[in-house]
Amino acid sequence: MAQGLDTEVQFLKGVGPRAAPGLAKLGLYTVRDVLWTNPRRYEDRRNVPPIGLVQVGSWVTIIGEVSQLEVRPLRGGMLLLRAFVRDESGLIALTWFNQPWIKRTLENYHGQIVAFGQVKDGNYCLEMSSPEWETLGEEDDPDDFAKIVPVYALTDGLSQKTMRRAARAAVRDYVDLVEEPLPKKFRDAEKLRGLKWCLQQTHEPESEANRLDARRRLVFEEFFYLQVGLAMKRAEVLESMGIAFPIDQLLSGGPLLELASKQSPVAVPLKKGRILVAKEPLAPVHLFAEGEKAQRDAEPLRAQIDRMLPFRLTGAQQRVIHEIWEDMKAPYPMNRLVQGDVGSGKTAVAACAMLAAVRAGYQAALMAPTELLAEQHAVTLRRLFAPLNIDVELMVGKLTAAQKRKTLERVRTGQTSIAVGTHALIQEGVAFHRLGLVVIDEQHRFGVLQRAALREKGLGQPDVLVMTATPIPRTLTMMVYGDLSTSVIDEMPPGRKPIKTHWKMPMDRKAIYAGVRKLVEDGRQAYFVCPLVSESEKMLAQAAEDLHRHLSEDAFAGIPVGLLHGQMRPAEKEEVMEQFRQGKLRLLVATTVIEVGVDVPNATVMVIEDANRFGLAQLHQLRGRVGRGEQQSFCILIADAKSDDARRRLEIMVETTDGFRISEEDLVLRGPGMITGTQQSGTADFNFADLLKDGKLLEVARQAAIKLIESDPFLRLPEHQRILQKVGEKRSSVAMVAIS
Ligand code: ADP
Ligand code: MG
Repeated sequence: MAQGLDTEVQFLKGVGPRAAPGLAKLGLYTVRDVLWTNPRRYEDRRNVPPIGLVQVGSWVTIIGEVSQLEVRPLRGGMLLLRAFVRDESGLIALTWFNQPWIKRTLENYHGQIVAFGQVKDGNYCLEMSSPEWETLGEEDDPDDFAKIVPVYALTDGLSQKTMRRAARAAVRDYVDLVEEPLPKKFRDAEKLRGLKWCLQQTHEPESEANRLDARRRLVFEEFFYLQVGLAMKRAEVLESMGIAFPIDQLLSGGPLLELASKQSPVAVPLKKGRILVAKEPLAPVHLFAEGEKAQRDAEPLRAQIDRMLPFRLTGAQQRVIHEIWEDMKAPYPMNRLVQGDVGSGKTAVAACAMLAAVRAGYQAALMAPTELLAEQHAVTLRRLFAPLNIDVELMVGKLTAAQKRKTLERVRTGQTSIAVGTHALIQEGVAFHRLGLVVIDEQHRFGVLQRAALREKGLGQPDVLVMTATPIPRTLTMMVYGDLSTSVIDEMPPGRKPIKTHWKMPMDRKAIYAGVRKLVEDGRQAYFVCPLVSESEKMLAQAAEDLHRHLSEDAFAGIPVGLLHGQMRPAEKEEVMEQFRQGKLRLLVATTVIEVGVDVPNATVMVIEDANRFGLAQLHQLRGRVGRGEQQSFCILIADAKSDDARRRLEIMVETTDGFRISEEDLVLRGPGMITGTQQSGTADFNFADLLKDGKLLEVARQAAIKLIESDPFLRLPEHQRILQKVGEKRSSVAMVAIS
């Protein structure tokens, strides 16, 4: 039989084997599980007014006798149950819908009952609908009720009373066995109470302040171990050898090829006094076409950037590029996340990072979530890198076997400096000559690339840059990407006008189409996103075809209308995209295949049909397809929103174009699990912490974790052994998760 905290719940005083299945349904098998259960809420029953004195609208606890029970059948087979409860001062009715078991319990009950709920004005007298309640038995001391009482989540076969009894017994008989993982000095510094005290105050709080103190520590602890795990992971990466790109030499100009060959093997002194030696000497490679070599090699990096980009970088872009270069200079692998709202110019930032890698004699890979986006990136990057004679190779599924073989060969031998593809690029283990930098675009579409995967594929330790347009609330960034450094492009390229967003009813379609027609006749282009009719690509394609037919034959007759959906062949898709880019097609009817990355600055109108069916993040991404040029852009959301949530989403879209605001709202509407994708993977399953409310404490825990790892990087000190153990338990759950 298990001992101590692992004792089975059935052995808790007053619980017994009959209650065990109910507790098991909630995942409570042992005394430990019960101790770490977070009550759903608390009732402050210290003030129990006489029934005659309760006020309409207030939340109160009442104690009285059940004087009468009334059952009324309602339409649709529902039952309305009303229990009249009285004390010397007055009468109140408690009502429940469809809870025959309450009827069975109260039918033959003649004693006191305690109930907690909000008081309303009823038909005959004051009322409480669906209150929390329990019977007050002989053995119950009414004084037991005059305190702050925890209210636990329940399930079939588990009553509030039993759950409370279990928690109370667990605290009284077992809490002394709980070991304190945090050293006293640490607790004092962070102002955290002892663990035993906190567990006890969680289940039997003596005051509101005590309860909150207890909660603070338990929440802190949940964040802390995860953050220590992330800090250790970060430290591990800093320990491993990466490429020290000679950014400074590149910036000042000069013959780099020579430098690359002379410099190897690279020996870089680390902070901790160790020396890193590169495994392979760097072989010189042909970066530039013959004849131009001397000139190009001597050209300082910034001059090359000026020749590469058709615009000046914004201050934010420059700052972020600088942050990236600083990482690239360092002798350990870069792990950086770049967040920038849609249209903030992440591609240019990536191009500058890739240019530096290529100039230093390495290859760079850019990975996009979809083939369409990969193709578009290839087009953009070829245009940018052409003046510098740097090759860009596109690697996507549509290539013929022969093309693919040739491309793979060029990448393997290093003839190609830049490879663009979907993330299959890494998954399929494409061989690179010397991969120095991996850029992952629009990260929210797939899980964070794991470094281990790169090593497994024999790709060494390239620098990794992750780019995402889904602005992530800071709390989530810390949880999900806690091991990445973050850069934020918080400024839009100049001359952008905020997109005007309108929410229209379906019956307004005629007027909308007329407005769009006028803009198109003025030279603009427009997207029509068709409704998300189903999950099936086939049905979506059908919907897009229907809308396309309707628009091209009817509302926009005489105007070239294109069609783009997931069922088309890649070559067809690219052809349509190209025609739209060139302005030959004026209107583009599409499914959400255009959701990310598509960049046609002359397109200024985005019409989204049945917009209520889309999530906030998706609407924001779709809207981001317009507002990319100097013309005023519009986003029209056509929706007859029935649910409150849908209405709220549309209102937020009309109110703001700020991606960070939108992601915060999304977090509130959907909850953190949905956003991090942790719900399915069971990752951040906290007992006590609430990512929505505990952001500040998360930051405190994170700082404490960083400080701890700086002082004892491997947690070798004896006083940190328990922390190390806890981190180990949590570590598997720090697994990478995707933002969806
Ligand atoms: P995103 O961050 O959404 O990936 P892109 O990189 O596609 O954004 O850039 C959006 C548009 O803004 C592109 O047309 C790009 O050429 C343009 N752009 C980017 N940076 C600047 C800048 N500094 N000045 C002017 N236009 C810019
Ligand atoms: Mg982009």
